[in-house]
Amino acid sequence: CGIVGIVGIKPVSERLVDALKRLEYRGYDSAGVATIHDGVLERRRAEGKLVNLDIKLRGEPLAGTIGIAHTRWATHGAPTENNAHPHFTDGVAVVHNGIIENFSELKDELIAGGATFSTQTDTEVVAQLLARLVRDGLSQRAAMQAMLRRVTGAYALAVIFQDAPNTIMAARSGPPLAVGYGKGEMFLGSDAIALSPFTNEITYLVDGDWAVLTAAGVEILDHDGNPVKRAKQVSVAAA
Ligand code: GLU
Repeated sequence: CGIVGIVGIKPVSERLVDALKRLEYRGYDSAGVATIHDGVLERRRAEGKLVNLDIKLRGEPLAGTIGIAHTRWATHGAPTENNAHPHFTDGVAVVHNGIIENFSELKDELIAGGATFSTQTDTEVVAQLLARLVRDGLSQRAAMQAMLRRVTGAYALAVIFQDAPNTIMAARSGPPLAVGYGKGEMFLGSDAIALSPFTNEITYLVDGDWAVLTAAGVEILDHDGNPVKRAKQVSVAAA
């Protein structure tokens, strides 16, 4: 239901959860955060309120200067910790708002190809499909574009790859998703309110856009992978 991402130079996990708190107004049933630190992708997830995720993180902190986080409003699969995002498949981490309409067709195809699913969500097909495309030899970018050609439905997505610890990829088709510009850091969020602690300079992705964020900036691409320019705006959301 809510998405936040940070790629930068300072630890991210606490800031990600703080930003999720600003998205609580949307409602949610579980939450999670994933970071990459020293080449290792790790996550913490919890059912219920963000305070439960806070408690987990206090017990087992997550280091790292890149990460993605999510509050979930379950549509497919019970609101359990195991179904909470981020979903992990072979070094690919995915958070998703919305519904992947053709998930069951994709799931059947991936299972026929040898995949083993570990959740009941529609979202897991995105992680599984990206992992398969990378295994088939595609670059992470090419995999992202190929995945976006296959999935239908409504989505805001944020993806990190363990093997690409300096990049967040994002895509929008339906639910809002905005890029935020920091100093030596870049941000991703479901709306300006989520980004307000970090920056007031934002760009909303347009439906069909996807984006590649690094600490140095963002590239925004259309469905065919052509670079596009989207207006930067100054958000008036209160910090
Ligand atoms: N359809 C996804 C799920 O049930 C995402 C729901 C959401 O937008 O939070 O896990």
